[in-house]
This record gives sequence, C-alpha cells and structure tokens, in this order.
Amino acid sequence: MGKQDHIKLFRYCDHYQAQLDKIKRQLINKSTLSKRTKSHLHKVPGFVCDRAFGFAEINPWHIIVPLFSTNKSRGKDYFTYYIAHELSHLADYYHKCEGRHGKEFYKMFVKICPRNLQYHEWKYKPNQCNKFNIPKK
Ligand SMILES: [Zn+2]
Repeated sequence: MGKQDHIKLFRYCDHYQAQLDKIKRQLINKSTLSKRTKSHLHKVPGFVCDRAFGFAEINPWHIIVPLFSTNKSRGKDYFTYYIAHELSHLADYYHKCEGRHGKEFYKMFVKICPRNLQYHEWKYKPNQCNKFNIPKK
C-alpha cells in the first residue's frame, strides 16, 4: 500500500485489490466527469474490507468497498455499482461537498455509474432515486 499506509484499514481484503483498482480506473475513464476531477479520483485509493457498509473519506482521501458487494448473488456487476456509488461521494466532496445522498451526489452518480447498473441504487435510496430520476432498468 506504500504511500497510503497511514489509512487505518479494518478487515482489509487484499484478494480483491487488483479487481477493484481495474474497475475503478475504468469507471473514471468512461465517466463524463471533467478532466480535472478524473485526475483527482484516479489518485484516491480504494480498498475492499469485510465491513457492513462502504464509505468515502476525505481525511485522508480514500474509499472503502464492503466485501459482500463482490458476491454475485446481488447481480453480476453489483461490485462495479458499489465502487461507482463511493466514487460519486468523492466527486461530490471534490466539487461542492454537499455530503451524503443529495443533488450533487446524484449529478455525479449518473456521470460515473454505467446506466445499466444505476437501478441497484433503487434498493438503497428509493426516495432519492425517485427525486433525481435514476432509471429503474
Ligand atoms: Zn452513499
């Protein structure tokens, strides 16, 4: 982990690191974010940990994706969706820092998450999805 050694990781799952790095890189490259935002997000490290929830932090900048999201039972690309969700928090923090699941978050989410995976968000935040017109399928 080198430079990121100061991030305290709880139940870190090394086995998924390469997969997470690859999906994260692809999501950022394919997104419609600005060049400046893409460049920032590429520098933010992501980790898979065996925890109940994922999160995005800015002090220091990093994302945690929970191990259960790699389980295919939630859909083949649920892990990809989850990474996109946490990247959307980073993009919100980087732009406006509105926090949590508001207007700026969903503006970023539709730029980052592939359209065919956005429906996963409905199981998590149905009211917000309705409010911000997130597609159901
Ligand atoms: Zn969230």
